[in-house]
Amino acid sequence: MIAIYPGSFDPATYGHLDIIKRAALIADKLIVGILDNPVKNPLFTAEEKKRHLLEITKDIKNVEIESFTGLLVDFAKKKEAKIVIRGLRALTDFEYEFQMALTNRELENKVETLFLPTSKEYLFLSSSVVKEVARFHGNYDKMVPEIVRLDLEKKFKYQ
Ligand code: ADP
Repeated sequence: MIAIYPGSFDPATYGHLDIIKRAALIADKLIVGILDNPVKNPLFTAEEKKRHLLEITKDIKNVEIESFTGLLVDFAKKKEAKIVIRGLRALTDFEYEFQMALTNRELENKVETLFLPTSKEYLFLSSSVVKEVARFHGNYDKMVPEIVRLDLEKKFKYQ
């Protein structure tokens, strides 16, 4: 079974990596799909995000990293994926995720969404929190892998 884990990954965090590792145990092949959407005004380009994700997943055999544009269900169809994986943190994620899952099913009823609950150490971790902390040069060692931290330091001009 082929599964897609889509997201912005701006940047990838240990929360994402945790979901990737767990989803890779369930799926035969897991495609991490980087949504390339410049309208969202991302900090990192799709190429930079791909480099981060390739590095942090290099030891997981059945994971592939790809970026995509357009509708997730079209990307899923192209990749012959029947499952979309999404992570759930607090209740605040629920409404948006539920709406997206139902919309995707409406668009393509052969694609199912599976939610994986976050591991509790990553409950409050998000890419936006990381960017806020990095912007003001706080300590975010426990939030992102080293390759991401080094690139954040470049973006936010650490000495
Ligand atoms: P999007 O813009 O699609 O929400 P994100 O990169 O913010 O992209 O998130 C991608 C997916 O990863 C979402 O399903 C989100 O809920 C999940 N996710 C993000 N951070 C965590 C975390 N700390 N624990 C579990 N899931 C997470």
